[in-house]
Amino acid sequence: MTDTTQNTRVLLASRPHGEPTSANFRIESVPMPEPADGEVLLRTVYLSLDPYMRGRMNEAKSYAAPVELGAVMEGGTVAEVIQSRDPSLKPGDMVLSHLGWQSHGVQQARHVRKLDPARAPISTAVGVLGMPGFTAYAGLLEIGRPQSGETVVVAAAAGPVGSAVGQIARIKGARAVGIAGGAEKVAWLEELGFDVALDHRSPTFRDDLKAAVPDGIDVYFENVGGHVWEAVLPRLNTYARVPVCGLVAHYNETEPREGPDRSARLMSAILTKSITVRGFIQHEFVKSHYKQFQADAAEWIRDGSLRHREDVVDGLENAPDAFFGMLSGKNFGKLLVRVGEDPTR
Ligand code: NDP
Repeated sequence: MTDTTQNTRVLLASRPHGEPTSANFRIESVPMPEPADGEVLLRTVYLSLDPYMRGRMNEAKSYAAPVELGAVMEGGTVAEVIQSRDPSLKPGDMVLSHLGWQSHGVQQARHVRKLDPARAPISTAVGVLGMPGFTAYAGLLEIGRPQSGETVVVAAAAGPVGSAVGQIARIKGARAVGIAGGAEKVAWLEELGFDVALDHRSPTFRDDLKAAVPDGIDVYFENVGGHVWEAVLPRLNTYARVPVCGLVAHYNETEPREGPDRSARLMSAILTKSITVRGFIQHEFVKSHYKQFQADAAEWIRDGSLRHREDVVDGLENAPDAFFGMLSGKNFGKLLVRVGEDPTR
């Protein structure tokens, strides 16, 4: 039975040096917050765990401010309204919100978006129909611009961003090559219709990639960096496009990797092959592309051309371990924490 007087929350207790551990988090219970005029009190149903949260644990300023020490870990949530002081929402409404790692919270009603559980499962609002799906859509179509018959390669392909990238590439008539860790993920990519799926942990990965792209790579959607990027770079075609979305292989690094400086080789490839390498953070495309994304994604889900998979962990207290696992590939699909009962299922 949920305690209606207490809010359980996970705070950032210390900053990690390298891989985060449970010592970096502290769980506490505090009295339930009270909503003011224009606000709603929410009960978290799903907390989305995403790789960007590793960056928020660092002190260094990035494209977003770090989480302060002693503050609630940041995160997107799907929540139920349990008390409303705004006419636009009533108890029982389900909303997309940003409560972070806590069981309850207060938000301004104008900062949440009401969800229609009849339209799609509410969890998809932080997955295929939410930020990760949108990241794939905007980054691939606006920067990658795949043309029919071209070859698109994506890593972390069994995750919510990568799986959408590959499927959207196929919808646009391109060949999709997905890279993931392990046989189970590779089998799922084949089931989704990727033209080729490769295991980056295989000792023959470099040769497998070479064989999978006989005409070279026109679009490489970068999610990971590391040894996958090393294998991809020599296979990029003239005029290739590289949307740089994430570098999860490097998020726990504290120092640059040892080795010869290969930046000249990289710049030379960019120059001589006229390659476009363009980093992006999905917000920049929200105004211009979000509405169309919602319409397109809903249609593709309906006609079966865009499928997704969720990896649901029960209990807020298990969020830290699930988060560590995601950074090393233990998740299989969009990683969610079911913080409280989902009344729509
Ligand atoms: P995922 O659920 O795909 O989780 C990350 C995956 O990365 C792991 O499951 C693992 O999959 C893979 N991985 C981890 N370490 C390595 C490694 N060393 N080499 C190769 N693969 C590795 O995450 P998302 O789909 O949510 O996010 C994918 C990327 O997109 C991340 O880099 C994230 O930061 C970025 N992102 C960027 C946004 C933007 O606006 N720019 C917005 C949202 C996400 P496997 O087992 O297959 O190796």
